[in-house]
Amino acid sequence: LAKDSNRNCVKLFDERLFGTNSTQDSVIEAMRSAIEQDRVSLVYQPIWDVAAGRIRAAEALMRLSAADGTAISPALFIPVAERTGAIVDLGIWACRQACRQLSLTEAIPTISVNVSAVQLRRPNFVETVGAILREAKVAPHRLAIEITEGLEIETDSAVAETIAALKRLGVQIWLDDFGTGFAGLSCLSRISFDTVKVDRLFVQASDTPRGAKMLKDIITLVQNSGQNIVVEGVETGEQVALLKQYGVGLLQGFYFNRPMSADALGLLAARGDRLALGAAVA
Ligand code: C2E
Ligand code: MG
Ligand code: MG
Ligand code: MG
Repeated sequence: LAKDSNRNCVKLFDERLFGTNSTQDSVIEAMRSAIEQDRVSLVYQPIWDVAAGRIRAAEALMRLSAADGTAISPALFIPVAERTGAIVDLGIWACRQACRQLSLTEAIPTISVNVSAVQLRRPNFVETVGAILREAKVAPHRLAIEITEGLEIETDSAVAETIAALKRLGVQIWLDDFGTGFAGLSCLSRISFDTVKVDRLFVQASDTPRGAKMLKDIITLVQNSGQNIVVEGVETGEQVALLKQYGVGLLQGFYFNRPMSADALGLLAARGDRLALGAAVA
């Protein structure tokens, strides 16, 4: 089933962007021209410190519009870009954009960028990130790299070495989608992450006593590991109240904001408005 839906994904993607008979080279080329023609962009979703009522960080999320202007979800194009290797150029572009944004917006302490395993296996990835930071004159700790737990961190020594080198560079390493894969626990025990992001699945399931207990247990696990915690996918005031009760201070989700343009994020952060939370969380 997973295989089939995967295949549909690729097909839908291929037809809309590349026609029906796309080869690997043509996909890479199409990605490259999408960058050149400004059809790739980043949007940013704030991560709120709810006690302070301020933006603590923002996650950069990639957007791609087809030549006809329709938006294509990263859930569709990222897996294809990973398979073809196009993610390498796209990922470098994203890092550079995010660092430029950091240099323009002092009011945002940190921006996180999603990075694929394919990128971490490239021998010069760390040097490239270092050069991008220097070029933008951004302090390394302001950039966070989000990696997904299913990442073969343990079995792939190249990936492990890259993560260690990124840490030496001073970049933050965040664990994304925690709780959704098989590698989560062993990841957490072997690598100390600056922040662990609990997947939105657990928030969505928290409207039953069983789901709420599961969410609490996952949160406690991360808290006890001594790593910072962000819960993503927060959509309702009830969820905010529950997460505050569980002691989670950093939240991200549609309840607060949808992902927004760089300009909108800059304005929001520069205004410095404190987040006004409703009665549910007072
Ligand atoms: P992710 O890193 O786990 O990103 C969070 C996703 O959840 C985003 O979807 C975001 O729009 C969505 N989201 C945020 N708050 C809520 C909420 O309250 N409710 C719901 N239902 N969803 C929420 P998006 O932007 O479609 O990205 C999907 C995935 O694509 C990301 O998951 C990430 O794995 C991947 N991705 C996005 N941009 C990049 C990139 O630049 N590089 C790489 N390698 N992967 C990327
Ligand atoms: Mg992420
Ligand atoms: Mg995530
Ligand atoms: Mg993800």
